[in-house]
Amino acid sequence: MTVIYERVALIGLGLIASSMAHAMRRCGSAREIVGTARSAETRKVAAEIGLCDHIVESAADAVADADLVVLCVPVGAMGAVAEEIAPHLKPGCTVTDVGSVKRAVFDAVTPHLPDNVTFIGGHPMAGTEHSGPRSGFAELFDDRWCLIVPSEDAAPEAIQTLISYWESLGSKCAQMEMDHHDLVCAVVSHAPHLIAYTMVGVADDLSRVTDSEVVNFSAAGFRDFTRIAASDPTMWRDVFLTNKDATLEILGRFTEELFALQRAIRQGDGEHLHDYFTRTREIRRGIIEAGQDTAAPNFGRAPGGQT
Ligand code: NAP
Repeated sequence: MTVIYERVALIGLGLIASSMAHAMRRCGSAREIVGTARSAETRKVAAEIGLCDHIVESAADAVADADLVVLCVPVGAMGAVAEEIAPHLKPGCTVTDVGSVKRAVFDAVTPHLPDNVTFIGGHPMAGTEHSGPRSGFAELFDDRWCLIVPSEDAAPEAIQTLISYWESLGSKCAQMEMDHHDLVCAVVSHAPHLIAYTMVGVADDLSRVTDSEVVNFSAAGFRDFTRIAASDPTMWRDVFLTNKDATLEILGRFTEELFALQRAIRQGDGEHLHDYFTRTREIRRGIIEAGQDTAAPNFGRAPGGQT
């Protein structure tokens, strides 16, 4: 594989950054990988497992001479990190991020950046419920979409280079406008996570069902909810705070549909329920046919798990 960026700086060394580091090592698309994280503990672990070529103490140090800077911190922390690195960025470099929300990151990051760098948002549609520098693996992005969300003035060559980079990590790429990205992700990821958090919370609150009954008898549906509801609390708090409008819009529609299903159950309207479930089954088939999951009985999920 040819080198795409001479030096890549990873700011934040959690699941996504550590997976990127492993995937870069696998394909050789970065000649040198520099990493940093907020806590000394994370930096120590990253150094111990040899995640990057260099682990440095600050984000400002990490970006020096980097051709690509990837912000891999929670969405709510992106602005402060951008402010810290801005004076130290190499002229002509590309700054990108992996945040799950795009409008809020763009608004928080770009005011800090100098005119001689390009900002292009990114969002790998791949993840697990695990966090931290030990949780990454090289295959995380294989055959998963990475959504590329360029600002209007981003140079086409810089966009194309970033796309080639994500493809080198195993991803398929699609370009998307940022508000549309946030709406799509509210449907496919953010609202489903909130529903999973709620369902697990309901089971936890229900005093007539004991904890051990929940643990021992959890059928496929609930078990899958618990996996999603184990996702990082900081990351998901920030997602809901920053993708407020789109998430609330989808939750409003969800509530309407839920009421309709509730009424069908109360009225014994089996035809409504059967038709509804037949339609949703088709969506599952479509996802499997598009290669985004498998029909394997383990919730269609590899042992590593994918969100
Ligand atoms: P993670 O495993 O929890 O790692 C987060 C990293 O950010 C850690 O290195 C942490 O440093 C650092 N960090 C946390 N708060 C910070 C702050 N206030 N200032 C500076 N650094 C801070 O997270 P992740 O799952 O890799 O997620 C990173 C980004 O990817 C998020 O924006 C998320 O929305 C996005 N994303 C996640 C997934 C997923 O499924 N996990 C999928 C797609 C996109 P310490 O370790 O030192 O605390």
